[in-house]
Parts: sequence; C-alpha cells; structure tokens
Amino acid sequence: MKILVINSGSSSIKFKLYEMSSAEEGEVLASGLAERIGEDTSTLTYKRHEKDGSETKQTWNDPLPNHETGLKRIIKALSDPEKGVISSPDEIAAAGHRVLHAGEAFSAPTKVNDAVIDAIKKCIPLGPLHNPANLDGILVASQIMQGASQVAVFDTAFHQTMPPEAYLYALPYELYKEQGVRRYGFHGTSHKYVARVTAKLAGVPQDQSNIITAHLGNGSSMAAVRNGRCVDTSMGLTPLPGLIMGTRTGDIDPAIIFYLGKQLGLSLEELDNLVNKQSGLKGICGHNDLRDVHTAAEEGEERAKLALSMLAYRNKKFFGAYIAALGRVDAIAFTAGVGENDSWVRAQSLADMEHLGVVIDLERNDGRCSEPTLISADSSTIQVWVVPTDEEYEIARETYEVLS
Ligand code: AMP
Repeated sequence: MKILVINSGSSSIKFKLYEMSSAEEGEVLASGLAERIGEDTSTLTYKRHEKDGSETKQTWNDPLPNHETGLKRIIKALSDPEKGVISSPDEIAAAGHRVLHAGEAFSAPTKVNDAVIDAIKKCIPLGPLHNPANLDGILVASQIMQGASQVAVFDTAFHQTMPPEAYLYALPYELYKEQGVRRYGFHGTSHKYVARVTAKLAGVPQDQSNIITAHLGNGSSMAAVRNGRCVDTSMGLTPLPGLIMGTRTGDIDPAIIFYLGKQLGLSLEELDNLVNKQSGLKGICGHNDLRDVHTAAEEGEERAKLALSMLAYRNKKFFGAYIAALGRVDAIAFTAGVGENDSWVRAQSLADMEHLGVVIDLERNDGRCSEPTLISADSSTIQVWVVPTDEEYEIARETYEVLS
C-alpha cells in the first residue's frame, strides 16, 4: 500500500512516499520538500530513494503560489515517467497528515471527516502557527487526491491517556471545562514511536513497558509511559513549558511574566516573543544551536558553560520526577537532534543517578548514534538507549493501521 506522508507548514510541504507491506514494514520510495510557497521563487527538492540505499536528487524552481500548486507539483514529480516512482497518482492509497493539535477530541489517528476538520479548526487558538497550515494540507489533498483516503495523525493524541492529576493545572476548574486549559503535550508521534521501539529493544512487551522518552531537539519534551501509555509529559497547553530549549524558557515561575510586564511595560505580544523566541539557550548565552553552545564553551565562554549546566540539570530533574511517577522503569530513551547526537548532554542529564538504578557506560555513550544504541552499563537496572526518531514512518504506519 502506497502512503504519502504530508507535513504541511505555512509556506512549505514536506513529504515522504512509503510502500507499506505491513504495519511493521515500510520502504521509502521518495521524499522531499516544497519550500517558499507563496513567495516569488519557490523550490521543490525531490529525492528518489534507490534500492541500493542511494538517492537521486532533483530540484525545481517553478513558482508555487499556494499549497494546491505545491501538492500538484509534488504529485507530478512522484509520477514523472523518468524520475518518478509511480505510474499514476491513483496508486497512492492514502495520505497521512501530520496535525499539531486536536485538543481532547482525538486520542488516535483518524480518517478525515467533518469532525476532524472541526476539531482542527477549533484548536487553531491553541496551535495558531501549525493548525491552519495542517488543515490547508488536508483540504488540498482531499481535493487533488480524490481516490486516496485522508488520515490525520495528531501530535497531541499519544498524550491523551494522561490521568487528570497529570493533565490538570491548579487553576479554577471552570477554565479547564470552558476554555480547555490543561496539559496536552506535543511531539506525541515521536514519543509513541520511540517508546514502542524501545520496549522491543528492552525485551519488554509493549503493553507492560514502563519507559521514559526524552525527545531533545531545538524543541524538547519528555514523556513518562506506563504499560505503553503516556501518563505524563513535560510540555503543556503549548510547547513552551518543561525542559530548557533552543529559544524557549521551559518551566519558569509564571509570575515572572506579570513582573516583567509591569516593570518593563512589555505588551503580551512582546512577552510571548521573549519567552518563546529570545530565551532558552539563546537567552542565557546568545546561541540557540547546541553545537554552537559547545563550541563557545570550549572557547571559554562562561555563559555557554552555564547554559549547558542549566540544560543538563533541568533534564535531570525531569528524569528524577518521571522515575518517581513510574516507579518501575524498564528503559530511558534519548531521541531527536540533541538526544541522538550529543553524548555530553546524555551523560550529564543522567549523571550520579546510580542510586536510582541508572549507570551510563561512557564508552558506549561516546559519539553520535544513527542506529538504536544501548548506552547504559550492564550494571544499570534501567536500560538507557538512544533511538533515532522517525515521525514520518510512524505517521505512515498509523495511516496503514487506520485503513486496515
Ligand atoms: P531537531 O529539533 O530534532 O532537528 O534538533 C535540532 C538540534 O539538534 C539543534 O539545536 C542542534 O544543536 C542539535 N544537534 C544536531 N546535531 C548535533 C550534533 N552533532 N551535536 C550536538 N547537537 C546537535
């Protein structure tokens, strides 16, 4: 079954075409990105994935005034007689769409219908940057690919199993009921994929597996997974709280917002920008990419060293909290740009936790991991893994499951 995974952004469409032979087995046929949609010059980068593992890349620079022309151009490339991978667009059985926010409406991937479209629209205030673009992608694909099923895979869905004590804020209860103010969590597709793969690696049946997943990238979040289901996560109503990120604060005292608003006369918009775009690693040391922070620290910049210590300390506190929340923990898994590549962050975030059953083997932990890698010592009662995430594959897999 050929499934086209679509991640539609405000000015881009990222895509990957899979041939799924079962829910557990899929092969990438082609992938790419249409960028700068709506600008004077747009670019479509298209890669055909060859059997020997190599890629044939091609780039087009035709103008793509909107998402409709963007998706049509992608389908034309996929069915190109020379460079394409399908002989007709009808071969695509389904499109799996990444959708940021479904609120409490959906706890599983769902075939697109009026209720799905309604839920995505209702959640636009909670995901103002992503939900409108995700919806655009769904509407355009429904129109262009009339023979294909459309499935929405929500970033919030995996976290819908959290119990109320984990998802409620200690605010007046009416604000939850009337305004939907609660913890939703994000990166759900990644946490779900990594938790499932880690359970397998740890040799524990998924429905009995207790796992902490740490998705550490430019945006970062952790999830505590009990018996294969999410019971807590570090992001909240929005992707701002929890861990220290590239430009986002993570957890801060919420009263800081009022204090700064009053002291500096900042508007709500300015405060929003401050905590989301000017804070995190960038706020502490001026660099938001962790590689630059390391370089600056090695060159002796004290603030960069401080930013690294703060980041690792925050991660460590969340690991401790989730070990407490879960009780028995089978495995911890690191994933995403930082989690997969930064051995210093992995080691420091779990340093001196032998008393909790976590012992990192520094040799196993050394370097970047492009494959699942065990980095804990044999003496560690909790296994620690690096598991490269694959959100697109998870979307293709879930789309396949919805259809079968
Ligand atoms: P992501 O959001 O998952 O794409 O991750 C992006 C982050 O991963 C960036 O902040 C980079 O600093 C970090 N990253 C990527 N490669 C490396 C690397 N080799 N070492 C350290 N950090 C890395």
